[in-house]
Amino acid sequence: TSFGFRNVAEGERQGLVNEVFAKVAQRYDLMNDLMSGGLHRLWKDDLIGWLAPPRSGRAFRLLDVAGGTGDVALRFARATDTDGTAVICDISPEMLDVGRHRVADAGLDGRIELVEGNAEALPFPDRAFDAYTIAFGIRNVTHIDQALREAYRVLKPGGRFLCLEFSECRIPLLDRVYDFHSFEVIPRLGKLTAGDAQPYEYLVESIRKFPKQERFADMIRAAGFSQVKYRNLSGGIAAMHSGWRI
Ligand code: SAM
Repeated sequence: TSFGFRNVAEGERQGLVNEVFAKVAQRYDLMNDLMSGGLHRLWKDDLIGWLAPPRSGRAFRLLDVAGGTGDVALRFARATDTDGTAVICDISPEMLDVGRHRVADAGLDGRIELVEGNAEALPFPDRAFDAYTIAFGIRNVTHIDQALREAYRVLKPGGRFLCLEFSECRIPLLDRVYDFHSFEVIPRLGKLTAGDAQPYEYLVESIRKFPKQERFADMIRAAGFSQVKYRNLSGGIAAMHSGWRI
């Protein structure tokens, strides 16, 4: 098979992930719209809706990990006034470059900072943020449990963890359509627009391997979070998990 990542050693995985995002960074936003049919926009709106940051009157600091080209942080900044500030942290300098331009174009560089860093070893002090978000990022991380412990560490007590990720669709027929889309449409779209199907085969494979809703919720609890819950989006094609650092 051409699933190039299947048998890579754990120590090599992140390097390969980084190559994928370095390669697709310039086309990432377009590909996201094409491959999800625009659905990722609604899911990200739901994420900010569930976070419900205070619109004004109280300083609120968000850390958006694996924030890439900035979709979540930009939505957050638009949903809050000047009291809402965000840090985008991503391991890929290429993705951050695209994000930096988008943040500047939106005139939000005063409220959104971009920092290169690994979700497994965040370059921030303990208890620094009111909320931690990660959208379509955690499945790329080699040690998910370590990333969850880091999320807990950088949150203030009372802070909120929210994760948006592809998950298990259990709706008959929709699950079949989704499989066809994943295995047939996405790699072809990738090849057409990026000239290379391999990064998108990685994408599909990483989605298949990611723990399902209940098991992922247990991993979040194991990292110390309380009141862990999730919501399915689009029949479970994606899911949002929420937890609190008490
Ligand atoms: N959150 C953005 C969104 O929803 O559009 C980007 C998601 S993109 C599918 C995954 C991002 O995770 C990439 O920007 C990649 O560089 C980043 N990433 C992968 N491994 C990471 C790690 N260990 N730490 C931080 N970011 C990582």
